[in-house]
Amino acid sequence: MFFKNDLQDLLSFNPESQMVSLYIMIYPHGPQSDNTRLEINQLLKHSALSEDNQVIQDYIKSEYDGKSRSLAVFSCLEKKYFKAIPFDLPIKNHIHTLNRPYLSPLIGYLERYSDWGVILVDRQGARLLTFNMGELIEQEGFMGEAVKQVKRGGGASFHGRMGGSTASSNIDNVIESNISLIVEHVTNFIVSEKIKRIIIGGSTENITLLKVALPKAWQSLLAGTIQISITADHSEIASAAINLIDKISNESENSLVTQAITLAAKGDRGAIGLDDTLNAIHAGQVQTLLVAKDFSEPGFQCVGCSYLTTQEVDKCPFCGSKFSKIPNAVEFSILKAKEKNASIHMIAENNQLLKAGGIAAIMRYS
Ligand SMILES: [Zn+2]
Repeated sequence: MFFKNDLQDLLSFNPESQMVSLYIMIYPHGPQSDNTRLEINQLLKHSALSEDNQVIQDYIKSEYDGKSRSLAVFSCLEKKYFKAIPFDLPIKNHIHTLNRPYLSPLIGYLERYSDWGVILVDRQGARLLTFNMGELIEQEGFMGEAVKQVKRGGGASFHGRMGGSTASSNIDNVIESNISLIVEHVTNFIVSEKIKRIIIGGSTENITLLKVALPKAWQSLLAGTIQISITADHSEIASAAINLIDKISNESENSLVTQAITLAAKGDRGAIGLDDTLNAIHAGQVQTLLVAKDFSEPGFQCVGCSYLTTQEVDKCPFCGSKFSKIPNAVEFSILKAKEKNASIHMIAENNQLLKAGGIAAIMRYS
C-alpha cells in the first residue's frame, strides 16, 4: 500500500539535522477553519525552525485537499525533504523537533489499523472492502441469485403442503449457492489484497452462514463481527470497524503486557523497563515491543554503533565510541525495533505497563 512505502521512506530518512514533525487532527473543523489554523499556529510556536514552519503552513493553505480526518507533516528544509501523510483516524495534536522524523504514532497506527478486510454479507451477495489507516476502499460488490421470500401459508399453500416444503428447500439451495459464490470471491479478495485480518458484518444469521462456509484457513483470519446493514455507508462501516479493532487490540495488547512481565520475572524471553528493553533491541532479539503512549525519556546514543542507553557512560561497551545525548530514547528505540522487524504496539491506559517502566518487550525464540 501507498502508506507503507511512505513510512519506509520516512524510516530511512536520517538527516542528522533538525526537522519538524507535526500531527494535527483536521476534522471536525476543516483545514481552512480559524480553529484549525489557530491550533497549527499554537503548535508551531513549539518549533524554532521558522522556515520549516512556513513550509508547513503554506502546504496546508494551498496544497492540502482537506479530505482526510488527520494529517502528519514532516519537513526538513535543510535537506529539502517534505512529506505529508493524510489518514482517516483521530490523532492528538502534537509537534516534535528532532534530528529524525517522529514516527511512533504512525508506526503504532499502522500496526493496529492496516491489512484489514471488511466483508459485508447478506443472503444474496456481499461487499468486500479493504480497511487501512481508517480508509475504506470498496474492492468488489456482487449479487448472487435473488432469494424470493415465500410467506408462510401464502404462496406455498397454493401448491399444497408438498409444494410449501419444495419452495423452502429451493430457498435454501439459492442461499447455499449464493454463500458458496461469496466464499469464492472472499478467497480471491484475501489473496489478492494480502488481507491479514477479517471483520464480517451483517445480521447474526448471515454472519453465521458465511462463517460456517469459510474454509478453515480463512476462519483463523476472522477477528470479529459487526451487526451492520449491507447498504451501510463508509462512515458507518469505518466507525464500527474502528470500535471493534480498538476493542480487539486493547484486549490482545493487555495480554501481551502481562506475558512480557511474566516472562521477564522468570528471566525468560521478556524485558521490562527502558534499559533492559534497549539492550534487547540492540541485540536484535525483540519480537514484540510494547510502549506506553506518550512515554518519553532522554538517553544516550553511541555515535559508532547507535547503541542506546539511559546511563551516562564514557565509552560504548560494544564499539568503544563516544555517546551523544538524545532527547527521546523511547522514540529512537521504536525506530530501531521497527528497523529490525519487531511488531510495535503503542498502548494507552495500561497501569501494568506504566508500573513496569512504560516499556516492555517479548523476545524471539533463539
Ligand atoms: Zn557503540
